Amino acid sequence: MNVDLHSHSTVSDGLLLPVEVAQRAHRNGVQVWALTDHDEVGGLAQAQSEAERLGMQFIPGVEISVTWLNKTVHIVGLGINYQCPELQEALRQVRTGRMPRSEKIAQALANMGIEGALEGASALASNPELVSRTHFARFLIEQGHCSDIQEVFNKYLGEGCPAYVPMQWARLEEAVRWIHEAGGVAVIAHPGRYRFTPLQFDLLFNTFKELGGEGIEVVTGSHEPHQYQEYARVARQYGFEASVGSDFHGIEGRMDLGELPPLPAGLTPIWQRWVEGV
Ligand code: AMP
Ligand code: MN
Ligand code: MN
Ligand code: MN
Repeated sequence: MNVDLHSHSTVSDGLLLPVEVAQRAHRNGVQVWALTDHDEVGGLAQAQSEAERLGMQFIPGVEISVTWLNKTVHIVGLGINYQCPELQEALRQVRTGRMPRSEKIAQALANMGIEGALEGASALASNPELVSRTHFARFLIEQGHCSDIQEVFNKYLGEGCPAYVPMQWARLEEAVRWIHEAGGVAVIAHPGRYRFTPLQFDLLFNTFKELGGEGIEVVTGSHEPHQYQEYARVARQYGFEASVGSDFHGIEGRMDLGELPPLPAGLTPIWQRWVEGV
């Protein structure tokens, strides 16, 4: 079964409208699809109606920005009721941190001789409450400062770089609670991207488990193939259900919708909660 439970639209830092992501997922053969925009559920209603029109099963999702041990961790919520007012208000609060950060990023870039980054990044963002580093990256590429996204994060925007601005996002326990209160399940996104020590990873997985977190992404566009096996072992060891998602943002990304390999053996697919006959 072709399942893709992690993707982005223009409602956050993707390049396609929610309905266009639905159409592309369908064209690529996806049968069960989740839209998971950063800190925002505003695209889900349109995505859902288009997915259903196309005969694709839709799982409403969100990717919440969390700060844990001073690092950013992303928690995906799946199967959420996106009309839940508490969830909507909590995410709105998370988004309010972005504008002050954008101003600081732009100031840091100006100090390096790159002017107009706030205006430039904002102009590339469809959602004024969701200007992300991806939009700054696209601006820097457009202006000829870098040739691709990876280079921008290595030179300017990644942790430890001159225009990196530390953030306090939501707390882990809050993100899990908001997802649960909206009837969803919580999933650790792309664990292979986090720069934690083995002890810190163990603490993250145990803490998440104790908070009632259900799942972990095993196969994701952010993992190298050898990491599929590594996080399959983690899922088995900690008793997490396994998720699969491209983390599609648009054609600039590494992985297209619906192109991921199947889960390694011996895992419980998280989508068996919503899909019959898995
Ligand atoms: P933000 O939430 O504004 O901090 O932006 C985070 C987004 O930047 C992620 O969701 C990715 O889309 C993108 N991103 C972060 N790190 C990298 C990287 N090393 N290479 C490419 N994109 C990245
Ligand atoms: Mn993103
Ligand atoms: Mn992420
Ligand atoms: Mn993502």
